[in-house]
Amino acid sequence: MCETTTRTFTQYLFCVIIINMVDTQKETERLLEDASHRQAGECYARTIEALISGGKNELASNNPMLSDLTKNAQIALERQQIKFVSGKYSAKRLLESSFPKERIVGLEGATLENPSTGIVLVRIPRRALEKLHPGARAVAVFSNSHIPFVLIADYDDKQITQIEDEENLPHEVHHIVWRAGRANELIGATEEDPERKRLFLSFINEVVATMVSNGKLHGHCQGMELTDELIEANELLSEIDEQLKRTDYKKTDLIIPLLEAKNMKELVTVLGKIKSELKNIAKPEAVPTNGGWTSISV
Ligand SMILES: [Zn+2]
Repeated sequence: MCETTTRTFTQYLFCVIIINMVDTQKETERLLEDASHRQAGECYARTIEALISGGKNELASNNPMLSDLTKNAQIALERQQIKFVSGKYSAKRLLESSFPKERIVGLEGATLENPSTGIVLVRIPRRALEKLHPGARAVAVFSNSHIPFVLIADYDDKQITQIEDEENLPHEVHHIVWRAGRANELIGATEEDPERKRLFLSFINEVVATMVSNGKLHGHCQGMELTDELIEANELLSEIDEQLKRTDYKKTDLIIPLLEAKNMKELVTVLGKIKSELKNIAKPEAVPTNGGWTSISV
């Protein structure tokens, strides 16, 4: 801070400029360069992996919000696992209690995975998933009457199934963690209108899902139209996605900066800052060199 009161206007101006430069620098560092933010994003991704595999994540989160979110989900799931293991659930029973009878006809091929370790998965043939939930690659299913589970497709090709799982499983498991966090009010927003708040939180939920699964950065909210701010946020996310390819940053590095936005306006500001910092870091796009088709006139 400038403490001297007897300074000329020029000195004052210089001082303001210096303060602004320092503030901008701090702000930028806070968003992307902060190693603790990167560590927290990494830790969140590892916790999601552990929830899928049933293993343990040894890395402790240094971020209170993400730490509470994952602890809360783990406690909720442990309680449900006890119920689940003693409840003799089957893939068929889970499907029957989640979807109308007429839509689950012919799902004999459904199998249960991870029944006593991580998140429960119900694997069904790709075509059956298309019938059950048109357009979905995987679905996180919640109900008051049973444990949450991920409905996931089995492709005829093992390799395709594996590639699809790599993105779809963390994406859907994040939704389960997020939902448990919202139920216990661990995730908040400052949007006053309840509908805008719901839309904003659903949008952020989707964006974090794409970050944790290394998917295409994007947000949406089923059944609700996006506001102008959220349309702008999606445009920024698309540009950020392109910029990231030319840096060493991972999508999980952006989770904490993103979660600092508590309303739609702040979201656009945060994404704008991330974009401008990445612009300075990103290597220039490779200029295509002429192939073997150059003609030389002599
Ligand atoms: Zn999603």
